[in-house]
Amino acid sequence: MTQVHDREGWLSVTASTCPASTMQHGAPLRIVLLGAPGVGKGTQADQLSQLSGTCHLSTGDVFRMATLAACDCVSPSIREALAYMQRGELVPDATVIAILRERMQCLRCMGGFILDGFPRTVPQAQSLDKLLQEAGVKLDAVISYDMPIEQIVPRLAGRRTCSTCKAVYHVTANPPPSERQCRCGGELYQREDDRPGAICRRMEQYQESTAPLMAYYSAQGLLVSIMADGSPGDILRRTLSRLSAAIPVGLPVAPND
Ligand code: AMP
Repeated sequence: MTQVHDREGWLSVTASTCPASTMQHGAPLRIVLLGAPGVGKGTQADQLSQLSGTCHLSTGDVFRMATLAACDCVSPSIREALAYMQRGELVPDATVIAILRERMQCLRCMGGFILDGFPRTVPQAQSLDKLLQEAGVKLDAVISYDMPIEQIVPRLAGRRTCSTCKAVYHVTANPPPSERQCRCGGELYQREDDRPGAICRRMEQYQESTAPLMAYYSAQGLLVSIMADGSPGDILRRTLSRLSAAIPVGLPVAPND
């Protein structure tokens, strides 16, 4: 499996040199992953990233890192964004776009990128188009992970994350060794935006703001829709097979479960 770097440049914008920026891929992969919260696009992004060596760039991770950081290193715009996130609301477009602009070096990266959680609205997608044009690069594909909403809500409500190693469990589908503890000994927590009130708001916002992106990218001939049911390995194999048919990048083969 290809080695994955720590995404320091993406998460904190402090890395002056990034190992990914000097990687010489045959043809870099530049993709966006869409899908309602809970369809498993973060897991797919991680696995695609490990297989291809392409960075997994999640805007949600930028905000979550900031919640763990000491208060005085968090910029006022990120602090404002966190209040929206904790209520399960979308962070305003201007703030998220500014955060992406600060990370332009990740869009120009020789290693390509897997964008997860951005764009989430049509204005964000239009800004991404502009930023990519400035960076002189183009998207290869936009993958949309599809799943009926009735299956998504229980997936989110049962999700638990380890505060130490970031492993993700599900209380019934992938239970941790004990209710509050991870395999590594770390304490498990439920994301604030995975609590019932916040889940409903996130779903409504997804339908209103993010679903229109399918038409946006379909009109550009970039949309690849994939059913997100089955095991993460099944979904990964489906993704790689659909991506290899859609784009000329030499993609790795998915391992068997
Ligand atoms: P995620 O991990 O992608 O589900 O993101 C967690 C939360 O971060 C979301 O519910 C939003 O509050 C916020 N967020 C992440 N990315 C964006 C974005 N592109 N636009 C607006 N809000 C975002």
